[in-house]
Amino acid sequence: MKWLFLLLITSHAHAFQILSTVTNSCHESMTLGLVGAGSQEFRQPAPSVLLSRFVATVRQIGVPQDRATQALIKEMDARFNWAGLDDATRYVLASLVAGARMPDTHGFSVIDIDHVRDNHLTDSAQATHMLRNRTDDLSDGNQQAITRTRAQLSSFVTTVLSQYANSQFLTQQTWAFPFYGEVSVQLFGPAFFLGQVSHSIEDSYAHTIRDSNFNILAISNYIEAMEDDIDEDRDGPPHSDRLDQCNMADAFDKMRIDEAQRQLLRVYNQFDSTIAANSQDPAAVESILDDVFIYQAGCVNSNNYCGSEWIAKAREEVSKPYKLGFNCGLVKDFRGPRGPGGFGLLLLPIAVALLLKRRLRT
Ligand SMILES: [Zn+2]
Repeated sequence: MKWLFLLLITSHAHAFQILSTVTNSCHESMTLGLVGAGSQEFRQPAPSVLLSRFVATVRQIGVPQDRATQALIKEMDARFNWAGLDDATRYVLASLVAGARMPDTHGFSVIDIDHVRDNHLTDSAQATHMLRNRTDDLSDGNQQAITRTRAQLSSFVTTVLSQYANSQFLTQQTWAFPFYGEVSVQLFGPAFFLGQVSHSIEDSYAHTIRDSNFNILAISNYIEAMEDDIDEDRDGPPHSDRLDQCNMADAFDKMRIDEAQRQLLRVYNQFDSTIAANSQDPAAVESILDDVFIYQAGCVNSNNYCGSEWIAKAREEVSKPYKLGFNCGLVKDFRGPRGPGGFGLLLLPIAVALLLKRRLRT
């Protein structure tokens, strides 16, 4: 029955998608592209030099040889095709990707639906994804959500810098292998926490309505959209499945992903300079975050967010609540502008489940 949950739930990723059996690897690709790895279309022409610094550090301290950590590196290697890269580089990249995935998985497998759902529907989980809490109402709610995300980012920035200053590079984290369960792994901390910084900044280009200068006009709301308790004037625009896509062949997606990666590249290179100066002062990195999170008040639902292109795109595919029903599964609520039409999608997972059952029997 888990396959039914998997198909119904993970087909709607929370934030830019992370790789699962049915979704694309947006966060992973955007993040790896900053250091010149991953799929070609996301690779930056001048990747960050921070990767070389991290790899040099790992060559000094060594790659952890425990079975769990080695298995994680091997799994990532197989997914992202790091053949030809040395052990230290693969370890740094694996730690970076683990960090970029962590806000969506919290160390659990993406097929562990109970955890994934619980994580996404708590107020405390929203800040990592640059989303509103239930209490973030009206214009003040935008500012509150930004402040909360910024505070969390600041703590990651401080962590990365202090790990370098104190030469405490390893961090123990939980990682889940599909159909196996959770294990404890030792990751390269600076890359792991930088991966989390990357996730939040990337999400700030999926969960906001921005203007043509990339100023933020509104922060989206996932939690109340999923609970079917959203009043856009009060709660902000509902989370949009359309803005979670990262199709670089699409001009709108390319425009905002290029900007997200441009800003992230600045963040990575500033980390490199600050660490090179043996400093723990986060001010220079913070000033780049200031640029990413400029809030422009006054563009709201009643004036259609001053005609932002982002709201038109967001409304192409607004996220719908999930309802308990249909046997043991959660089903998407298909009411809305397109009218009822969920039956085809309900039949699909059933067909797949039957096929799987048949295959397992033979
Ligand atoms: Zn997210």
